[in-house]
Amino acid sequence: MTRHYDLVAVGGGSGGLACAQRAAEYGARTAVIENGPLGGTCVNVGCVPKKVMWYAAQLAHAIEDASAYGFDVSADGHDWATLKAKRDAYVKRLNGIYENNLSRREVGYLRGTAKFSGAGVLDVDGERISADHIVVATGGRPIVPPIPGAEFGITSDGFFNLEKMPRRVAIVGSGYIAVEFAGVLRALGADVSVFVRFDSVLRSFDPMLQQGLMQSLTDSGIEVVSGFRPAAVTRGSAGLDLAAEDGRVFTGYESLIWAVGRKPNTATLACDTAGVELDAEGFIPTDTFQNTNVEGIYAIGDVTGRAALTPVAIAAGRRLGDRLYGGQSERHLSYENIATVLFTHPPIGTIGLTEPAAREQYGEATKVYMSSFVPMYHAMTEHKPKATMKLITVGAEERIVGCHVIGDGADEMMQGFAVAIKMGACKRDLDDTVAIHPTSAEELVTLR
Ligand SMILES: Cc1cc2nc3c(=O)[nH]c(=O)nc-3n(C[C@H](O)[C@H](O)[C@H](O)COP(=O)(O)OP(=O)(O)OC[C@H]3O[C@@H](n4cnc5c(N)ncnc54)[C@H](O)[C@@H]3O)c2cc1C
Repeated sequence: MTRHYDLVAVGGGSGGLACAQRAAEYGARTAVIENGPLGGTCVNVGCVPKKVMWYAAQLAHAIEDASAYGFDVSADGHDWATLKAKRDAYVKRLNGIYENNLSRREVGYLRGTAKFSGAGVLDVDGERISADHIVVATGGRPIVPPIPGAEFGITSDGFFNLEKMPRRVAIVGSGYIAVEFAGVLRALGADVSVFVRFDSVLRSFDPMLQQGLMQSLTDSGIEVVSGFRPAAVTRGSAGLDLAAEDGRVFTGYESLIWAVGRKPNTATLACDTAGVELDAEGFIPTDTFQNTNVEGIYAIGDVTGRAALTPVAIAAGRRLGDRLYGGQSERHLSYENIATVLFTHPPIGTIGLTEPAAREQYGEATKVYMSSFVPMYHAMTEHKPKATMKLITVGAEERIVGCHVIGDGADEMMQGFAVAIKMGACKRDLDDTVAIHPTSAEELVTLR
């Protein structure tokens, strides 16, 4: 027997849930197929538990700063196990809320692993499910490098399973997950080394952000080892030893975290049985409307290899629901000017083109405004991390094509500026906006 739906989402993470629920709101008969906890990467092993850890790290920094504001406080240690238990309970609560949301919206919830057994047909642990529209939203998983001893390391998933804080940690990788974890572990008292392939972290970000973060990592006591390509991991008497291709060996780590990228969850989906094409890395290419090469099969979120962020997966899913069932035939997600935040210490907010990308695209028409200052909060504190901001404009009208901020408050600051930039704001629009004083954000509307 085959169960039939109007729309089925494979994957109950950010994208799949959003799409199935939006389609159901229009009256479609929908279901979500999920083989893990509901909520996917973001809720279980991504944004949510990560942000809890970031808050803990922020508190650690606040306690350090408190004496500068007249408080007589000190942290007599940190209880990682207590934090983990509370964090896990919170995530579990969210899993329940997600399940209730599905039943409230009458979206079916099929627990199991799906694979294609033809176009429009899925096999879910032996059960046949068919649908007019199948949305692949299977996300991705962390990459572990294929080197001897790699299994001694953990990935971001394993980080969230740690029952106690490792005292000495090696993090291999230079992307946002590597630097976010480094900041958390360091703030909570670990001795942290970050191993990067080239000479900097965050290589795809604006150079100002790279330099600013490199400075703050080293200021906080994090070692950054550059030019590192992992060759092997062994367990020595003092812990894990990490050998580089160039012969260097780094010894004695209690924990090793691989943060070297993510790959799509498509290997066991049997996409070929439905004729769905994958690219060389296994991602599912889609057009502007999230269509795959097969009619009636769509892909959204991390599995598409485009802007791997929760709100992107959600937005693509909701817009697809609007298009298929909401009578909005042109509705789709624009992948231009997507703001993002890195929960580092201090945080980073960024949107649009980097300066090198803008100069390459617009040449002489590019004009850059920058400001670097010690935020007022740190006028009182002993350590004085700077906030740095950059606005990139093009043409005589100085249309803003990039905005990059590293500094306290950048995380909350960027959303509003993103609205303005998405609407086509020019430098003059910021100049004409009266500042909010005293804030760090006001610098962005007073740049000269
Ligand atoms: C450590 C970390 C921190 C992050 N922090 C942020 C952040 O701060 N902000 C942000 O915007 N993004 C963040 N992200 C990225 C964000 O989590 C992802 O972009 C988002 O979860 C993608 O949603 P998705 O729906 O595409 O996939 P997912 O959320 O990964 O959901 C896919 C789901 O499909 C299920 N699945 C896979 N294959 C099958 C199958 N065959 N059958 C049934 N089910 C299947 C999986 O179990 C999973 O639940 C972070 C990611 C990580 C790893």
